[in-house]
Parts: sequence; structure tokens; C-alpha cells
Amino acid sequence: MGLQAFASQFQNYFASAQSGRDLVQLSRAVAAPSHGFARQDLTRRLDQAAKRVLFVVDGIGADLAEQWALVPSADERVRGQSIFPTATGSAVPSLLSGLYPATHGLLGWHCYVPEYQAIYAGLPWKAKRPANTDEVVPVVEPAKYYGKPPTVNRFDALVVPAEIQNSIISQIFQPQAAVLGYDQDDSFVDAVEQALHEASNQTIYVYFSDYDHLAHGFGPFSPEAKQSIDRFNRIYAALRPSMAAHRAAAVITADHGHLETQFEDWIDVESLMGEAIIGLHWGEPRMAFVRAPKTRHFAERVFEATKGRVFAATRTQLLQWQVFGPAPQHEGLIDRMGDFALLGSGAICIDDRRAHRPVQLKGMHGGASEIERDIPMLFEFFK
Ligand SMILES: [Zn+2]
Repeated sequence: MGLQAFASQFQNYFASAQSGRDLVQLSRAVAAPSHGFARQDLTRRLDQAAKRVLFVVDGIGADLAEQWALVPSADERVRGQSIFPTATGSAVPSLLSGLYPATHGLLGWHCYVPEYQAIYAGLPWKAKRPANTDEVVPVVEPAKYYGKPPTVNRFDALVVPAEIQNSIISQIFQPQAAVLGYDQDDSFVDAVEQALHEASNQTIYVYFSDYDHLAHGFGPFSPEAKQSIDRFNRIYAALRPSMAAHRAAAVITADHGHLETQFEDWIDVESLMGEAIIGLHWGEPRMAFVRAPKTRHFAERVFEATKGRVFAATRTQLLQWQVFGPAPQHEGLIDRMGDFALLGSGAICIDDRRAHRPVQLKGMHGGASEIERDIPMLFEFFK
């Protein structure tokens, strides 16, 4: 596959924006059905419900959701698409805010703070530095990076794992929402029921993270990962009577799918090029941003050194292809991108060996393949 074919994969990425079946449009329709969704009959039924609950099952792709019967009681099953990069650090902000990454400005797990030339992990807000060094990274307050992003959506309550109850992402994108944390299955059911009981809560966002963790560690198709989907199904089934009592509409979706990766898929572009020219990466292993190396013909050299397994796209190309979604553009967008993004073809992941020892995750996401992109959109309407 040449760069052109790779580019067309990206260009097709937002074809779904016209059909209205991406997660931004879904979350907008749940937050306020007047925003509409691809299917008018579904929009109408969302509008008629007394409450609307958006369940986000982190990492479960459309195919596995079918194969493993995620929420077998669903009335409607639609195949939808995530945003790009297909990663939690970008997709959860999109689900919460109702904005594309181009607008909310979060382009993957690791964020580049141009004013300080520092890289921070977006969710735990932790500095990234080269391994085995004491290199000092400037201290950056997260508020400095996030600013005051605009938000289209309004969720009245968020139900999330207790360990991320104080997550900066929720505070930034849904500052007025009540946040309920849960630990075990019982407290998960209790927390959602508590959110449903509060009369003023019309829109509720529920986040379940287990599948993604297990899919990374054991593989997307592993029995360990499947068990977490069975667990979600049990919790969901236990909630159905309360959702019926509150005449709720349930929408079940995911932030992205999962790609199975082998050890050989993790490659260190810099060592293949034989030169220390790239530096630390940010973004995602499937879409790693790097600063401009002084070397000429960088893209061609990356292509040659990796035997065509990695493409280096310039930020101009990425913007032209609108991979992060349509305008309006976040004011910091261009500076937050590298001069190049290293994009892995197939299941290739870019290993940042300056920052850590080689990793072998058995499941990965962040790229533009169908399996990472396509997500379930399931609807159950309670009368
Ligand atoms: Zn993940």
C-alpha cells in the first residue's frame, strides 16, 4: 500500500460524517435528540424517552460486539464509526463534549505542550521523559493545556470507575455534571440506579473500562477479555428493571475497536533508520507525532528504513485529509501536532524505545483500520 492508498483510508474516514453514524453525532443525539442521528426513527424514540443513558464500553469493536452478543436485549443494532485517532484520550473527550478532535484539540494519549516543549500523558497528566535519565521536564498545570474547551453536550450525571472519579477530562468537559464512582459490580448497579433516581438527571453517561485493559494485556479475542463483556452484560441486565421503571432509553457504544498485535508488529523507527534524529514521540503508538528532523527526505527515508511498514505524513497532509474531523479547529491544533506523524500500516505500532523498554501489548488501537474504527451503536427503549 502506497502513501496515496493510505491517504484514501483517511479520506474515507469521515465519509461517515455525512451519514451521521460517528460517535460525535451519536453522543450529541443522546445529550439532545434535536441534534439528530442518521436514523430519524431512533432520534424520535430517543426524544420520547424520559431519560437517556449512554453506556461506553471502552475498546469493544463492532464485530466482537456482534459475535459476543453485547447487550442481547437491544432493539436496534447499528454499525457506527469512531473518530481519529481511535483512542480513548481523543474519543472520550469527543463523547463527553460532542466535538471532533480537531475542535477539542486532544490528539491521543500523550499531549505535546508547545509553550513548554513538554510531553504529558493526558489523563493522569504525567510528564513523559526519556528512560534512565533525570531530565527535568517543565511542570505544566493541566489547566494551562486544556484551557476552556467548548462543549456541545450536556450530561447531568457521569458514572465512572472510582479511580477516575476526579478525572481532569470530566471536569473540563462536563464541569456541572454530578460524578458517581463505582468499584465492584454491585456498586456499579447502585451508582447507575442512584443517577436514574435523581429527578433532574435526564442524561447520564456511564463508562466501563475493563475490556480495554484486558484486550491490551491478553489480546482482544482472549477469554480474559471476553469475560469482561460477559460481566458488562450481567450488570446491564441487572439494570434493566430500573431503566424500565424510569422509561429510559439506553444507548450502548464504544470509543474505538481493538486490533490484535504480535511482538514483531512493534517497531522502533529510529533504530531502523540508524540515526538518533527523532526524539520522544507523542500521540499514540499507531499514530506517533514527531518533531521535524533536520534530515532531508524524511518521509522517503522512513518508508525505506521500515520497508514500507511506516508512513510519515506531514501535518499539512493530515489537515488536508481532515483526519481529526471537520472545522472549527482548536486554536492550538497545529502546534500540538508534530511536523510529521508516523503511521503504522497493517498492525504496525511505533515503539518509542527512548521512553521505555520494548513493550508487547497484545491489543492496540489508534489507527484508521476498520477493526479499530467500527464500533457498535446499540439502542434499547424501555416503555
Ligand atoms: Zn486502550
